Amino acid sequence: MVVYLVGAGPGDPELITLKAVKALEKADVVIYDRLANEEILKHAKGAKLIYVGKKAGEHYKSQDEINHILVEEAKNNSVVVRLKGGDPFVFGRGGEEVLTLLDEGLEVEMIPGVTSAIGVPTTIGLPVTHRGVATSFTVVTGHEDPTKKEKQVKWDYTADTVVVLMGIGQIKENTEELMKYRDPKTPVCVIENGTGPEEKIILGNLENIAQKEINPPALLVIGNVVDVFKQINQIK
Ligand code: SAH
Repeated sequence: MVVYLVGAGPGDPELITLKAVKALEKADVVIYDRLANEEILKHAKGAKLIYVGKKAGEHYKSQDEINHILVEEAKNNSVVVRLKGGDPFVFGRGGEEVLTLLDEGLEVEMIPGVTSAIGVPTTIGLPVTHRGVATSFTVVTGHEDPTKKEKQVKWDYTADTVVVLMGIGQIKENTEELMKYRDPKTPVCVIENGTGPEEKIILGNLENIAQKEINPPALLVIGNVVDVFKQINQIK
């Protein structure tokens, strides 16, 4: 038996790897989170599909419950796919699941995915690095576990470009923190539902972006590379 921990990519069903498609084709069971596009599941013909993501108005499964399902399915089937949006190790709790499976003596193979942090900006012509503009980028979570005693995100990053995932709910607080270290006029590009038909691009700067209407899933790209995006897309 084997469990494949698989990245589904950022939404567009064509942005999945060939290796991921092959794993889905072999799967007896697919355990998946909320995906931007469920078309990807078509590759898993005949497999049992188990949804463990959030459902509006309903209790959603805790990480412990998910781990339990994973272990049980892995013990009872020969090929299990654990499918996650983007890349499974970018804020996907993939590492925790791998450790749980290994603890049970189960075999795990990891298949990367196109992370939204880079794939979504690239799709719209927003390079996270650019010669003479940005030599580094960092990806941070805008939503830390509220039960943590001390915040790990300090916002004092020295990278030229900052990409914030899960940052819409606390966009006001996060941009205020960033303005302690960066010019309030630093350009910001928000991409909502990237790579999908509902994709929306919202432009602003650190000072005013929190006032705009933004709906998740969305990510923020902060830095002068946003000016390169404007140049590439001929936006004045
Ligand atoms: N493992 C995923 C990230 C999980 S965290 C990855 O590698 O992409 C979930 C966050 O990712 C969302 O809150 C949002 O900030 C971002 N995200 C995922 N898909 C997105 C998309 N299609 N468009 C914009 N942001 C997206």
